[in-house]
Amino acid sequence: MEPLAAYAVTEAVSRGRHHAEPAPQGRGEFQRDRDRIIHSTAFRRLEYKTQVFINHEGDLFRTRLTHSLEVAQLSRSMARALRLNEDLAEAVALAHDLGHTPFGHAGQDTLNACMKDHGGFEHNLQSLRIVDSLEERYAAFDGLNLTFETREGILKHCSPGNAHALGDVGQRFLDGTQPSIEAQLVNLADEIAYNNHDVDDGLRAKLITLAQLDEVTIFARCRREVEAQWPGLQGRRFVHETVRRMINAMSLDLIANTRANIAAAGVETFADVRRAPVLAAYSEAMRPQLRELKTFLFGNLYRHEQVLRTIDKARRIVADLFTAYMADPALLPGQHQARAEGDKARAIADYIAGMTDRYAVKEHERLCNGGEFTGCYY
Ligand code: MG
Repeated sequence: MEPLAAYAVTEAVSRGRHHAEPAPQGRGEFQRDRDRIIHSTAFRRLEYKTQVFINHEGDLFRTRLTHSLEVAQLSRSMARALRLNEDLAEAVALAHDLGHTPFGHAGQDTLNACMKDHGGFEHNLQSLRIVDSLEERYAAFDGLNLTFETREGILKHCSPGNAHALGDVGQRFLDGTQPSIEAQLVNLADEIAYNNHDVDDGLRAKLITLAQLDEVTIFARCRREVEAQWPGLQGRRFVHETVRRMINAMSLDLIANTRANIAAAGVETFADVRRAPVLAAYSEAMRPQLRELKTFLFGNLYRHEQVLRTIDKARRIVADLFTAYMADPALLPGQHQARAEGDKARAIADYIAGMTDRYAVKEHERLCNGGEFTGCYY
């Protein structure tokens, strides 16, 4: 393998782990981060958490887990092409959605509303909270004790207030510096993954059609390429040939433009990366095409009446659970009851955020339909 670029993150420039540990054997520090993330409880739960389509609606739709794997794959490919630290990119990608609630964004928005007077809820901060303190696996510390660079990569946005409270890992939001290019790339790999798999899942679910997608410049262009090369091709193969061309176009654009940005900014070291403007970015030509695709998905898929119906149900489940536990923390399992003796609302939010979709549904049935709690309206 080619040597890493001088501006890649290496162990030599890493700020290390909060709790000092012996160096790993037979693997590097960032590989160890990735391995710890994969072995975590929160990672396994991603399998049963909604991305866009409720998990039990079909076996072929993306879940948070398969989404995270796609983000990791894209991040690694692009990191390697730019001679960046692939292990760091992979670790950040696999952890980026750990803090998601059940039921996707509807779950997070509802939990945030429930937590309005208790510090709010944000899935990105929650991902960091999981790897920093909620995972209980090691004798010597809470959380996974990941390297600073992986933790910093997970925290992709943060309010000034939260940045103050977080200390070192929040510092860049206060002084306006950047995280590694590896972390910047994962951010965009996330977008490439969901924009494309949502087209694929949306077509599979028959919520959007090929005819509608023809309004979208990048889709129409890739579709024409497939038709020229494979006249008469139809069905799943046709969709996949089109979607894979979109993924390729976006990734290649991002690699080329990021490389040009690095050169134009005169970036030579990782310290330069921190002080430079954001380096991982699409070209001027690609940006409006991605905006157009996002606007299309927003209007036609995320706001589809069938999706909205499931969102409505999800909101009620999360709100009911929150109300029930707040009214009677004795309904929480033992270790969460102990946490609730400190900050009750936060302990409840942590517990609900950790639930898989199906666990939340079951717990809601138990508490709200079994007569134990009467404040539920679902
Ligand atoms: Mg994501």
